[in-house]
Amino acid sequence: MNGGPERAVARVDLGAVERNCARLAGLLREGSRLCVVVKANGYGHGAVPCARAALRGGAAWLAVATADEAAELRAAGIDARVLVMGALTRADLDVALDADSDVVAWTQDFVDWVDRPARLHVKLDSGMGRLGTADADEARSLCERIAADDRLDLAGLMTHFATADEVGDAHFGAQLGRFAAFAGAMRGAYGGDLVVHAANSAGAFRDPEAHFDMVRCGVAVYGLDPFQEDPEERGLEPALTLESYVAAVKRFETGMSAGYGRTWRATEPTWVGVLPIGYGDGWRRSLSNNARVLVRGRPRPLVGTVSMDNVTVDLGPETDVRPGDRAVLIGRQGGERILCEEVAGRLGTINYEVTCGLTQRVRREHQEA
Ligand SMILES: *Cc1c(COP(=O)(O)O)cnc(C)c1O
Repeated sequence: MNGGPERAVARVDLGAVERNCARLAGLLREGSRLCVVVKANGYGHGAVPCARAALRGGAAWLAVATADEAAELRAAGIDARVLVMGALTRADLDVALDADSDVVAWTQDFVDWVDRPARLHVKLDSGMGRLGTADADEARSLCERIAADDRLDLAGLMTHFATADEVGDAHFGAQLGRFAAFAGAMRGAYGGDLVVHAANSAGAFRDPEAHFDMVRCGVAVYGLDPFQEDPEERGLEPALTLESYVAAVKRFETGMSAGYGRTWRATEPTWVGVLPIGYGDGWRRSLSNNARVLVRGRPRPLVGTVSMDNVTVDLGPETDVRPGDRAVLIGRQGGERILCEEVAGRLGTINYEVTCGLTQRVRREHQEA
């Protein structure tokens, strides 16, 4: 890189990731540890560099969704405990165990597949209605079966909340009660080495009762707000900046249109900037006529249809913007900022999907603390 403008780059501040982890670790009840979730390429931020930053920031464990994601961490030389949280095929299970990961069990059939020493976490579906067994007796007999097998280590008990981010909702408390009863009984039976874990980022902020021995935080680690509010109000620093540049500046007379379908027309003479980034980069088409972009420290409305490789912004009737100027689509420039939560709100989705949706065509640049 020559330090000049770039077509599409996601700059990830690893110092922010590290500080967010320290913030989360500091929030936890005595005795509870931080497991940092780096699935889906670290929510689009880059799994390996973010995992390293998280471990520097105080994470004790890492978690991923798939076996391949665990293998990627090991291939990079990361030797922390790794939990693979997702459903595994028989082939996936081999990959996960080859990567020396802990895996999650909720059926007898799955436990039957395990043909070598392994660390298993039994998952109770306390009300998420997804993975895990909803039958507490089944979960108990799985624990019994694993504990009785010399090759197997009953390493943990887990559940996952459906509504941790919906403050005031009663389902969270109901799930917590069901899981706490199960975990208490199992701890009594199998001793204190079990790692009991339930909370995601929202759960970690919401209720210390949900911290148990470990919390599994993803979104907050990246400085994204689990409640879709302003992350800085919760002491979190957004780690990702999405940048492009102004490739062309052109004069528009009244009535001229920008982009496919002519969905925007100049209502007065103005200048339009063209940025070479589009839905091929994950800057979604639903942001057509529905986003802001920072150029020269000021917000500019995105006008016209987002295409695969380009977007257009209205620079106003008089402009000092020049080709080559940097454009920030997510992040800070000058005194202004555009939060990922704002983009998500415009799209009718959540911040998670915005960063996960940035495609491979966007170069990731990791800035060390
Ligand atoms: C993704 C995931 C998490 C992390 O959730 P965040 O809301 O990103 O903190 C925790 N637990 C499980 C089972 C998950 O799938």
